[in-house]
Amino acid sequence: MGLKLFNTLARSVQEFAPLDPPKVGMYCCGPTVYDFAHIGNWRTFVFTDLVRRYLEFKGYAVTHVMNITDIEDKIIKRVRQNKTTLPEFTGKFEIAFFEDLKTLNCLSPHQTPRATEHITEIISLIQKLIARGIAYQSADGSVYFSIEKYRGGGYNYGQLLKLNFDEMRPGERVKSDEYAKESIADFALWKARAPDDGDIFWPSPFGEGRPGWHIECSAMSMKILGASFDLHLGGEDLIFPHHEDEIAQSEGATQKTFVKYWLHGAHLLVEGKKMSKSLGNFFTLRDLLAKGFTGREVRYLLLTAHYRETFNFTLEGLNGAKTALARIDECVAKLRDRAADMLSLEKKPGQHSAVDLLPSFTAALDEDLNISGACGAVFEWIREVNRRLAEHSLSPTAAETALIEWEKTDSVLGIGAKSETEIPADISALAEARAAAKKAKDFKRSDEIRDELKSKGWVVEDSPKGFKLKNN
Ligand SMILES: [Zn+2]
Repeated sequence: MGLKLFNTLARSVQEFAPLDPPKVGMYCCGPTVYDFAHIGNWRTFVFTDLVRRYLEFKGYAVTHVMNITDIEDKIIKRVRQNKTTLPEFTGKFEIAFFEDLKTLNCLSPHQTPRATEHITEIISLIQKLIARGIAYQSADGSVYFSIEKYRGGGYNYGQLLKLNFDEMRPGERVKSDEYAKESIADFALWKARAPDDGDIFWPSPFGEGRPGWHIECSAMSMKILGASFDLHLGGEDLIFPHHEDEIAQSEGATQKTFVKYWLHGAHLLVEGKKMSKSLGNFFTLRDLLAKGFTGREVRYLLLTAHYRETFNFTLEGLNGAKTALARIDECVAKLRDRAADMLSLEKKPGQHSAVDLLPSFTAALDEDLNISGACGAVFEWIREVNRRLAEHSLSPTAAETALIEWEKTDSVLGIGAKSETEIPADISALAEARAAAKKAKDFKRSDEIRDELKSKGWVVEDSPKGFKLKNN
C-alpha cells in the first residue's frame, strides 16, 4: 500500500510519489546554533527522523539534508553579548546539537551544510534574482526581494498560507528575519554591514554584509538536492515567512517548482502551556536528562504524538513512556529467551504460527504517519506474544520470527531494546571461559562454548588483542 502524507501546499493528504523513485530528496530546516535546542525543536527533529526512517523502511533511497544556521540576527546579538567570536560561539552549540541528536537516537542527516560555508552560493542566487528583476538594492546597500515584482511575473506568493494582499502596504521593507503575516513586505536577502554586526560580514558584489536567513535555506537545499526536490520539513512556525520566502526565492530564480511535498510538525505545549522560561516550563533535552529521564524516554514520548497535532508534553507523560518501554523490553527479552530455548517444547497445535506485527504497523503509518495506530499495533502484538508465551504455544522458531518482525518495526521507531548494547553477565562469563579453554589448548571445549554462544545469538570474534562479542 502506498504512503500518504499531508502536504501543506495542497492542504490535503496526498499519495506520496517522489520525482525520481526510488530516490527521495528531503530537506529539513536545521538548528540556529545560538543556544541548546529545546524540546519543541526536538519534536520537529524526531518527527523528521520518523519520516526518514519510514521512507527507508519502504525501500526509498533517501538523501536527508539538514542545514546549520550559523549566521543570523540572534546569533550576532549573542556573539556580541558574550564578547566572543562567531565560530567559537556557534561551534559550541553545534557540537551540543549533534550530541543531543544522538542521545535521541535520530539518524544523522547525510549532509549538514553550514550557512557560513555557502556564502558564494547565496550570493549567486541573489544575483540571479536581481538579474530577473525580482530583487533590488536599497539605498542602505541591503538587497531585498520584491514581492510586487514577483507577483507581477505571474508567481504566487502565499502558496503555503493564504495571504490578504489588500492589507499589504506596497513599498514597505523588512530587514528582520522574523515578521508576521500582517506585515507582508519585501524581505532582506542580503543585509548591508551595520555597526551592530561588529566584524561579522562578508564581501559581495552588493557590498559588505551578510545573508538573510531565508536565502540560506534556498541556496543550500538547491545546491545539494537540485532545483526541484521531493520533501521539505520543518515546524509549523516556519510556514510563514520562512518557507513562503524559500519558495519565492527559489522559484523566482529557477522558474521551476521548488518542492513537491511540504510537511509541517505542530507546536508543543509543556504542562498545558506555551513553553517559556518565565513559566518554568522551558526544557532543553539536557534539562530532562538532569531530571533522570533518558533520551530513549524523551524520544518515545515525542514520537508517539501525531505530528500534526498540538502535543502536550508533561513529566507525567515521560513516566508513562518509561512504563511503555519497560513493557516492550520485557516482551523482547522473553522472546530472546524463547528463541534461544533449545529444550524441546511440548508440542502444541499452532506453536509455529507467526504473530504478525508489520502488516498492521505499516497500514497505520501509511495513513499520514498514524503513529497512534502504529503504537496500538505494537502493543496489540505484545499482548498476543505474551499470551502465546504464557500458554507455552510459541516455538523457538516462531519467537525468532517475532524478533525479526520487531527489529524491522524498530528500524522505524528507533526506540531499541535496553539490553541490545549491553553484554549480559552470563554471556561474557561464557566468552571468558572459552578464551581460557583456548589458552589451555582445549579446542574441543572452546568450540563447544562458541556454539553455545552462537545458539544464544552471540558471535565471538578473535583478534590479536583478545576477543570481541557481537550480538546478531
Ligand atoms: Zn529553512
